[in-house]
Amino acid sequence: MATVLSRLALLQPGTLAEALRLLRDEGPLVPLAGCTDVYVGLHFGSALGPRFLDIQRLRELRGIRLRGETLVIGAMATYAELIASPLLRRRLPILAEASRWVGSPQIQNRGTIGGNIANASPAGDTLPVLAVAEATVVLRSVDGERRVPFVSFYTGYRQTVLRPDELIVAVEVPPVEGRQWFRKVGTRAAQAISKVVMAAVRAPHPRIAIGSVAPTVVRVPRTEAALAGGTTIAEAQAVLMDEIQPIDDLRSTAVYRRRVSANLLAQFWSDTGRRGRARTPQPR
Ligand SMILES: Cc1cc2nc3c(=O)[nH]c(=O)nc-3n(C[C@H](O)[C@H](O)[C@H](O)COP(=O)(O)OP(=O)(O)OC[C@H]3O[C@@H](n4cnc5c(N)ncnc54)[C@H](O)[C@@H]3O)c2cc1C
Repeated sequence: MATVLSRLALLQPGTLAEALRLLRDEGPLVPLAGCTDVYVGLHFGSALGPRFLDIQRLRELRGIRLRGETLVIGAMATYAELIASPLLRRRLPILAEASRWVGSPQIQNRGTIGGNIANASPAGDTLPVLAVAEATVVLRSVDGERRVPFVSFYTGYRQTVLRPDELIVAVEVPPVEGRQWFRKVGTRAAQAISKVVMAAVRAPHPRIAIGSVAPTVVRVPRTEAALAGGTTIAEAQAVLMDEIQPIDDLRSTAVYRRRVSANLLAQFWSDTGRRGRARTPQPR
């Protein structure tokens, strides 16, 4: 008897080279990492399938390590692994914090950073962190490797520069100078998609990125420049509210998102100021 599953195909390569060859020769194929987003798509009939490429066995996509001064995070690193990594907590603690806010322990055990990046939701919790960390996305195909600055990876709502014959293999992060700060605002602590999510770095030229306020995660260069130029926080808040373009959707309203973004900016500034404490509330 034919079932819904009968029309689905799953290819399971054992090496990255084999996976890339399958993508080129047997495509189109949808990569499956932790499957937490793909499964939702399958359940609601919006999956990109019906032919899937299981990348779970690719050891080349795993691990969190240093190469010289560069932090290299494999695309298959799960949130649980990010949270547990002493190297990550030392170099980019806000990525470990962002990971703690994702879903629930079950999702953290399966969901991967590569999946969060490729899924391209403007609400993805790791994405503002990667934007302020000035990360680079490493893509590979049979033809070779290319490195894309994270801020150039998204071209529109759920659109990326990733080609159908490419996989994200890693994300690279240079050393981050300055105090790091992260905050997610959702309906509740666990299992809530962000209404607004902000990551920031308090450097001489501050860096600020926000999710859920535009079709993609965004840096806010006018607000950053205002703060770097010594403006008051009230003036910087006004610049920010003008700079972002949030929308009304089922999770929140544009008015709320604009107001909360401005409040988070002030919170970032006071938490990371000379006398302030860099304190991020814990999800649970
Ligand atoms: C209950 C629940 C709660 C959630 N809560 C949150 C939350 O709080 N915050 C949040 O940000 N997200 C949340 N998510 C979304 C999801 O868990 C994350 O986006 C997760 O990181 C996806 O990773 P994955 O490995 O499961 O990706 P998958 O589902 O396997 O893949 C997602 C997409 O990325 C592509 N892909 C995956 N890996 C690669 C790769 N290496 N190269 C190229 N393409 C690739 C896939 O083809 C697919 O299109 C939640 C999901 C669920 C079901």
